[in-house]
Amino acid sequence: MSTAHAHDPNCIFCKIAAGQIPSKKVHEDDQVFAFHDINPWAPVHFLLIPKTHIPSMAQVGPEQAPLLGHILSLIPKLALEQGCGPYPEGGYRIVINTGAQGGQEVHHLHVHVIGGPRPWKHG
Ligand code: 5GP
Ligand code: ZN
Repeated sequence: MSTAHAHDPNCIFCKIAAGQIPSKKVHEDDQVFAFHDINPWAPVHFLLIPKTHIPSMAQVGPEQAPLLGHILSLIPKLALEQGCGPYPEGGYRIVINTGAQGGQEVHHLHVHVIGGPRPWKHG
């Protein structure tokens, strides 16, 4: 599709997924890279990104359903591994900021997973 490119040379998250910018990795497979947010809102705060450059949720359609399903299905295991408490007492927040009014700052699709004991810095 025209809005998705394998790699955008100017994109910071493409560079993180390619290992060109260092990050604290949480998970990697052929489709997904996950890493700790540099400015965490809470004791646990990591991001999952597709390795392919998709600017935001606004570019997602049915053809990305398997990729999005894969990303979301990784979260329960990774969240526990990273220190989120088990459901229902524990848990976490899953956030996908989309566009300027949605608070999106980095224009490479990313899923925030935010959790751990409260109080949090934000949220
Ligand atoms: P957004 O507001 O676009 O949903 O969130 C972007 C997130 O990426 C922010 O929480 C920000 O702290 C994080 N971030 C931005 N640049 C970097 C970086 O170079 N490394 C890491 N690990 N996180 C980053
Ligand atoms: Zn990118």
